[in-house]
Amino acid sequence: DLSRRVQAAGRDELAMLAATFNQMLDSIETAYRLQQRFVADASHELRAPLTAILGNLDLLRRRPDLPPEEQAQALAEARREAERLSRLVADLLALARADAGVPLAIQPVDVDAVVLEAFQEARGLARGQELVLDPLEPVRIRGDADRIKQLLLILLDNAIKYTPAGGRITLGLRAGPDGGATLTVADTGVGIPPADLPHVFERFYRADPARSRDPGGTGLGLSIARWIVDRHGGSIAIDSAPGRGTTVTVRLPAEAPSAAG
Ligand code: ADP
Repeated sequence: DLSRRVQAAGRDELAMLAATFNQMLDSIETAYRLQQRFVADASHELRAPLTAILGNLDLLRRRPDLPPEEQAQALAEARREAERLSRLVADLLALARADAGVPLAIQPVDVDAVVLEAFQEARGLARGQELVLDPLEPVRIRGDADRIKQLLLILLDNAIKYTPAGGRITLGLRAGPDGGATLTVADTGVGIPPADLPHVFERFYRADPARSRDPGGTGLGLSIARWIVDRHGGSIAIDSAPGRGTTVTVRLPAEAPSAAG
């Protein structure tokens, strides 16, 4: 029973011990509540695509007489929802790994090479947006190259999702004065309303999904991005205005802290 507390009033060591103990119980209780909410939210999110897949499969089985266009439509929707399910599972696994405190694989990283790789992959995902790389300064830090690439792909994927065709997405890398890296992903897309901005790093938070051309978001991308940045001892900031676009700035220090956390 986590709600029980130790009673020991006064100023002596026993009272201090009791106070410390109670504080520890408080943080365990908070962590436990957050975890419970996460599991509840995750189950809810997983159920929606599953329901859609099962519904479409049932329809196809019950109605073999459906016109071919409607059959194709049901199949396409089942496939779309299966893809969404697969993205959700991948994101949930990434967060579970984060929660379990899996350490980074810290090595020397040529950030410019990682940026180039991410840029080339993102180009394949773009749908009518212009992708620009500017500037690309050589920067070497100590960090986890795979996680940094994952971070860039999350930010580029968002920029692509929330920028209409004809818009521009600019990926940049500058060397910081401390030998660290400053990464920027700027888009000319729909932007984020000020009321949503403080919440976008929360798990499962999505500003009005109708604004996206692609309703396939999970609301987990930026939570994963923030975890990666935090574990590198860096910072992430978003500057955005509705209708004008969004700029995400990530600063990574020259050396990621090596302790697991
Ligand atoms: P999602 O999978 O929904 O993109 P994220 O955690 O990556 O989840 O982002 C959370 C929310 O922040 C998104 O649903 C979207 O409303 C907003 N957002 C993130 N990046 C951008 C961007 N580049 N432009 C506009 N809105 C964005």
